Amino acid sequence: MAYDVNNIFAKILSGDIPCNPIFQDEWALAFPDISPQCPVHILVIPKNAYISMADFSAKGSAEEVAGFFRAVGKVAKNAGLDETGYRIIANHGEDAHQEVAHFHVHVLGGKDMHRGILPRPS
Ligand code: AMP
Repeated sequence: MAYDVNNIFAKILSGDIPCNPIFQDEWALAFPDISPQCPVHILVIPKNAYISMADFSAKGSAEEVAGFFRAVGKVAKNAGLDETGYRIIANHGEDAHQEVAHFHVHVLGGKDMHRGILPRPS
């Protein structure tokens, strides 16, 4: 599958679609999720074009992968989540319902998310 240059996050990176940047450096851009699932819900995306976790982990340089995940850590710390805790999620592909085909990490926090990875059935 080829990277779709018209995906929403590519447009955010190019400035065609606005976002409220929370953090950015050489490797990553972070902004609030438009449909927050937690009191803190931030998306962190790499500056370069990667479709998903599979693509990024296979093709990103060591410097880029390290720079990106350091940025994720800084975003969580800057949001004040180091003490109370947070969860990071990267949806890849169909089973995980990845909606936007530009690799991104969700940083979720600001409330007790309960034990386990998946949300509790309601
Ligand atoms: P995923 O299912 O992991 O691909 O998640 C995509 C996320 O992008 C969802 O949580 C959406 O709410 C979020 N999203 C979609 N469009 C925007 C946007 N323009 N700005 C911020 N977040 C967005």
